[in-house]
Amino acid sequence: MKTIAVLTSGGDAPGMNAAIRAVVRTALDKNLNVMGIKRGYSGLMNGEIVPMQRSSVADIIQRGGTILKTARSKEFKTEEGRKRAVNILKTFRIDGLVVIGGDGSFRGANELSKLGIATIGLPGTIDNDLAYTDFTIGFDTAVNTVLDAINKLRDTSTSHERVSIVEVMGRNCGDIALYSGLAGGAENIILPEKGYDEQELCRGILEAKMKGKMHNLILLAEGIGGAEALAEKVENITGIETRATKLGHIQRGGSPTCSDRILASRFGYRAVELLEQGKSSRVVGTRNGKVIDLDIDEALSQPRRFDEKLYEIAYALA
Ligand code: ADP
Repeated sequence: MKTIAVLTSGGDAPGMNAAIRAVVRTALDKNLNVMGIKRGYSGLMNGEIVPMQRSSVADIIQRGGTILKTARSKEFKTEEGRKRAVNILKTFRIDGLVVIGGDGSFRGANELSKLGIATIGLPGTIDNDLAYTDFTIGFDTAVNTVLDAINKLRDTSTSHERVSIVEVMGRNCGDIALYSGLAGGAENIILPEKGYDEQELCRGILEAKMKGKMHNLILLAEGIGGAEALAEKVENITGIETRATKLGHIQRGGSPTCSDRILASRFGYRAVELLEQGKSSRVVGTRNGKVIDLDIDEALSQPRRFDEKLYEIAYALA
């Protein structure tokens, strides 16, 4: 292994820059050449490749987004597109590639490894929807962004004695809603993993009001419906003023938390170690506080996990 490259792909996440920095500086530390590929697989097919030095990743550990930009590419999903990508990699004498992204990006990396390029995937997504790892890069920052918004919403919904429904991202994974709901003291957390009953929800809101609750905060994961529609139903049934807030893309931005920066640094370091050892088609993650790596196929076929205990605690403390 002489030259490796790094790209970011799919949805962006805070901490991707810290991961790029870790890959670049670890590679240089190990006397490897390292290149940056812009705009994910799309840029790879167009040859958007630049050499990286230590200074190329200076002053980015604290920045959200990705300096390499990210993209989605339909063409890369075709065999012809991937062959073009491999030819470009060979032209630049790149023999190892670190892909920072989600499950789609990992599938792409796996395909590239079948064509003779050593690939390692790093989980970069705010959704925390990859079953093989306890946490993904960007999740902690997104949860803290939601928490900040919840704290503000609580002030105003307490003043007006309203119900406040906050819709958060996560695709089909309810982790952002679960973690921010527990940390933000939400009265209700609605997740795709658990489902909910409208009548039961409304009865709970009315009972809480009778007990003297000044406000009712509901965390709604995007994978189970929209906040506006639910707010209308809740207001109609309970007669209590109900406001919907969809946090949207602010959850994708911002300076990464300490936790995400450290995760990204540890993951980036392990990715380069694996390439140096001649490993390919593997993904890096964390389990019980330790950095792990496993085969991409195995990682992507793991069953979805859900932290029932955390859910139980959230409702016990609500
Ligand atoms: P994420 O990595 O965040 O899940 P996507 O699912 O959009 O994001 O995947 C990012 C890119 O990875 C896609 O635009 C596509 O180019 C590539 N990709 C996704 N799935 C596959 C696949 N099955 N085979 C090859 N490439 C894929």
